[in-house]
Amino acid sequence: MNLDLVTNYIRESKHLVCLVGNKLQEECGVPRLRVQEVAYEVESKYGYSPEEILSSVFFVTRPEMFYKYYRDVILSNQGEPSDSYYALAELERKGKVKAIITRNIFGLPTRAGCKNVIELHGSVYRNQCIHCKKDYSIEDLKKSTKVPTCDVCKSIIRPSIRLYGDMVDNGVMTRSVDAIEQADVLLALELDLNSSGYEQTFHDFAGGKIILLKSQPHFLDEKADLVLYGQVKELLPEIVKAL
Ligand SMILES: [Zn+2]
Repeated sequence: MNLDLVTNYIRESKHLVCLVGNKLQEECGVPRLRVQEVAYEVESKYGYSPEEILSSVFFVTRPEMFYKYYRDVILSNQGEPSDSYYALAELERKGKVKAIITRNIFGLPTRAGCKNVIELHGSVYRNQCIHCKKDYSIEDLKKSTKVPTCDVCKSIIRPSIRLYGDMVDNGVMTRSVDAIEQADVLLALELDLNSSGYEQTFHDFAGGKIILLKSQPHFLDEKADLVLYGQVKELLPEIVKAL
């Protein structure tokens, strides 16, 4: 069966790279911001859509409202890593994962113990003064009441996440491209092959096998070498155990 085939591919792989889709964070109790009901609720409360508020322009022009939303919505629930993430960390400890690439901003792989994590969109756990670059913790932002400012230079503190309108961080992009180029197996968790932000990755990756683990079928799934349907939090621990 396919589970045995996946296990074999992983066992024989020399450089497996894992791509984590944002949908996987639903297992962890984090709602996706672009889901329509969430967006509607935000818009009726704040008068702006999540995309408008979480933009670099909005951060500069309306920092008070940005931070009200950021504290109330984004920092109110970072979720807890699900069994999928712990299985991924175990896979990495076994030496079978070289890099984990994610657009998740809640640090879920890292919190589960993963080491080589490439966070394409940054993390809510990293925050910096925009001027002197002093680091601040997520707790510093949570306990702030207005716009959080640096205790050294009084400049505004910015979460190190990619806001709409931000350029992609070049260093992070390079690490990601390098990892993909060296990969012989791409293990994609809850990702569609045309998933925005990753379509170029799949297009560039010609050297090996693509394995998809996902709950919902998609018409492009047939382009992958192997697909396993089901809950990733059940499939991945089973695969790791069988290795
Ligand atoms: Zn500062």
